[in-house]
Amino acid sequence: MALIVKKFGGSSVGTTEKIMNVAKRIVNEKGKDDKVVVVVSAMGNTTDELIELANKIDSNPYKYTREMDMLLTTGEQVSISLLTMAFKSLGEKAVSLTGSLAGIKTNAVHTKGKILDIKPQRVLDELDKGNIVIVAGFQGCDQLGDPVTLGRGGSDTSAVALAGALHADSCEIYTDVEGIYSADPRIVKNARKMKEITYYEMLEMARLGSGVMQPRSVEVGQLMNIPIHVRSTFTNKPGTIIREEYTMEEKGFVIRGVSHDDKVAKIAVLGVPNNPGIAYSIFSALAEKSIDVDMIVQSIRNIEKNVTDMVFTVASEDLSTAKEVVDKAAGDLNAIGVLIEKDVAKVSIVGVGMLGSPGIAARMFGALSKAGINIDVISTSEISISCLIKSSSLKEAVNIIHNEFFPEG
Ligand code: ASP
Ligand code: MG
Repeated sequence: MALIVKKFGGSSVGTTEKIMNVAKRIVNEKGKDDKVVVVVSAMGNTTDELIELANKIDSNPYKYTREMDMLLTTGEQVSISLLTMAFKSLGEKAVSLTGSLAGIKTNAVHTKGKILDIKPQRVLDELDKGNIVIVAGFQGCDQLGDPVTLGRGGSDTSAVALAGALHADSCEIYTDVEGIYSADPRIVKNARKMKEITYYEMLEMARLGSGVMQPRSVEVGQLMNIPIHVRSTFTNKPGTIIREEYTMEEKGFVIRGVSHDDKVAKIAVLGVPNNPGIAYSIFSALAEKSIDVDMIVQSIRNIEKNVTDMVFTVASEDLSTAKEVVDKAAGDLNAIGVLIEKDVAKVSIVGVGMLGSPGIAARMFGALSKAGINIDVISTSEISISCLIKSSSLKEAVNIIHNEFFPEG
């Protein structure tokens, strides 16, 4: 007997036909005594469509964060009920649970909630009754019982955290790609599928835009030490296991992967006084709105006037709120102005191998320069290097950098 948590993303349950196929696959693969918990996302692009609807009421609906959660949690409720009906139509015992019914408790940060605790008694009771338990991903509830969503892609985190709370034997993430690749296989033809990747590297790749897993889910996996198997909904091939350490010899690539993110925007606050506390006043105002700031550069603009420019990036979805916050801060600071650039993208390389290998950054910059691609902002972490470039050059950049570190043949 095994207790298995399986998560199916939006593209895996995009149509009723696909929902039926998911149910059939689970029933076929389920051992007689296995206990199965299925976490599902909203069907196809439902979440985007719901956001679109809200946009028609107000151009920045994320101001109304609680109501956004009330709206967005409906997407997953549609898929849990339909998937449960699919199981029942196949003669299986099954029950659907919202995040709240499954005991997923979050903080009260609407639209970007974090799971504080899971009390999975109801899930365990339903499994004991012989049910397949279908849980709505991406959602939990706060102390008041209000619905809270976990940020885009949050169903991954629901699944991994549930696997941890249930002490599951395995956690499988089913998606429309066959695993984790050295670059997005839709952009780079010869991207390599990895058999394994460490939490540390996967977290960095996810944070830098590899859309397959929500970064927080990898963090939770590491925290609870749950190996995560990322694999395809549409084939039976083994995918990629995310775990603490490599168990197999992998070829000695210094770089694990090339990640990219075009959902970023650049904000420049021009001509702010070069005094202590200025960065604090801008970034604490952003933090108050739970806005993550990514690449940050401060440069001397004019030594005589003792003013400087602050340049940083935020996620595109945070741009309108960030702009309101920054406009106000810039006004208070008597800054010269605020510039916004939306047509920027970030390309990054990731790998623990770069720790002991000098010259990696130079190879990345060299590859970009050969292609005539200008680098706007650079940032680094211990195991990654990122460059901000024009979004129109993104595909080319990902390909040439991948070619540099993973030459064909
Ligand atoms: N439906 C949510 C989203 O599109 C959560 C998820 O798919 O994981 O972000
Ligand atoms: Mg996803």
